Amino acid sequence: MSGVLIVGAGFAGLAAAQTLRRAGMSPVILLEAGSHVGGRARTLRLDRGLALEMGATWIHGLELGGGEGPNPVLRAAQRAQLLGARPRLSVWEDSHFLVQGASGLLTQEQAACIMHSIAAFEEGLDAAGGAEEGATLGDVLQAAWDKLSSGQKVAQHADLARRVWAWRESLQRAIDGTDCSGDLSATAAARYAAAVQNTNAPIPGGFQAVAEAMAEGLDVRLHRRVTGLDWGAEGGACATCEDGSRHAAAAAIVTVSLGVLKAQHETLFQPGLPARTRKAMAQLRMGTVDKLFLEFYDAEDSALDREDGAAPAAAPDLGNGADVVTYALLWDPASTASADSALPDWARGVFSIGFGGAEVKQGAQEPGASPRPVGVVWLAGEAARAVEAASDEEVLGTLRAVFRAFPGAVLPAGASWRRVRLHRSAWGSDPLFRGSYSYPGPSAAADAGAVLGEALTPPGVARPTLVLAGEACAVEYFGTTHGAMRSGEAAAAKLLSSL
Ligand SMILES: Cc1cc2nc3c(=O)[nH]c(=O)nc-3n(C[C@H](O)[C@H](O)[C@H](O)COP(=O)(O)OP(=O)(O)OC[C@H]3O[C@@H](n4cnc5c(N)ncnc54)[C@H](O)[C@@H]3O)c2cc1C
Repeated sequence: MSGVLIVGAGFAGLAAAQTLRRAGMSPVILLEAGSHVGGRARTLRLDRGLALEMGATWIHGLELGGGEGPNPVLRAAQRAQLLGARPRLSVWEDSHFLVQGASGLLTQEQAACIMHSIAAFEEGLDAAGGAEEGATLGDVLQAAWDKLSSGQKVAQHADLARRVWAWRESLQRAIDGTDCSGDLSATAAARYAAAVQNTNAPIPGGFQAVAEAMAEGLDVRLHRRVTGLDWGAEGGACATCEDGSRHAAAAAIVTVSLGVLKAQHETLFQPGLPARTRKAMAQLRMGTVDKLFLEFYDAEDSALDREDGAAPAAAPDLGNGADVVTYALLWDPASTASADSALPDWARGVFSIGFGGAEVKQGAQEPGASPRPVGVVWLAGEAARAVEAASDEEVLGTLRAVFRAFPGAVLPAGASWRRVRLHRSAWGSDPLFRGSYSYPGPSAAADAGAVLGEALTPPGVARPTLVLAGEACAVEYFGTTHGAMRSGEAAAAKLLSSL
């Protein structure tokens, strides 16, 4: 048998295939269960050029460089001429802070309290890299909170500081993909922060377009869900698909997500994965992060807005011509009997609502497309899993109630709760992903991802026939598209040296 089978056509699988093809390997066959390439880089393309990123959103870490070369996703996007004219935007800047139940403006002292609290949180994050072995991000942040709350800077506004801290922690959970910061090893958190550092680039035509450009010329077979992989035979690896088709090659690279691996490795691999690989897999965790998009349609009729109680005012234009505003929601941690008591638990996981018109900051839009108001909410952990089980009606009703709990929030010009469509991801319950992105758990060895991605040689066979790849195998850049690409390239290199 010759050639290599690749299971999964996300960024890891595509990068592995490109590397193998460049080295002259043939055949290289990608078996993809879904109906499109890109995996967790999934762009929902709507009419009038509106493109919503359900998964990967920004090319993180544009400044990556040094010995490892430039960010490979940036390189791929540049090659395909997919970067916009204004590629560099920071991710979570320009938030407008709203306090639950309060419509008044903040005083200078309150504003200073917010700034101090955020600065103290960032200091806590910076300390994560130097934390003791075994410490979690939660430990480091707790120490930062203790220092802040026992000092004078926020003494007059302790309640506000607590709210800001809770908001910033929710945002951090969405960035890291964790249920709580105590789940994540502190040193891994520092590595991840480095991977997503500095400026970030959205892709105007959608992230999926980068994967589609990478797939050009490759042998990608869609709708081929691999249900079994025999990697123990002398001749190589043989995959069986749900449709009954079988595909054989000298070796296989499997790039399914960590969530899928954890759920299916026992039935997927024959022979089973070695104990060392399973141990590394157990040390890594799969988080759930979801996005809810509100698409406001036919937005001209402002009379309706007033009738149905939506705010008549327009969201402020921030001066960049984009009508983009992000509200940071400062929930009252103590409130149980207030207006939000009837809300489902996941509602308090809504830590921010962003709106975009001509440009959706947390999604993407074709340049020159007609502006249409779109809102976006991110949810992480338990709240994300709970919202996946809720109906569209419940989600819309709850978001509207959340909006009401923060009287300072206004819909963008012309938008109405009467004319809104919900688009949302459900990464946790999707059987092809079973989660959003991975992170090393508190007791994870520093090299757990590398161990997961080691070339595997079955008993009695002279050379490796299987390598696992994907973002979870990336030690430095786990949880990102560039981490996925680098792990795919590394997996291909391991096989090239042995085939
Ligand atoms: C909400 C969200 C936001 C994100 N934001 C960013 C961001 O801003 N920047 C960033 O860099 N990264 C971001 N990420 C992470 C990024 O999307 C992933 O790290 C990356 O896309 C993973 O690529 P992969 O190739 O490792 O895995 P995947 O993309 O999961 O590819 C694996 C492929 O395997 C397929 N598959 C599964 N089971 C089978 C089977 N049995 N047989 C055949 N095929 C199978 C799947 O359909 C999938 O296409 C985000 C992810 C999410 C969910």
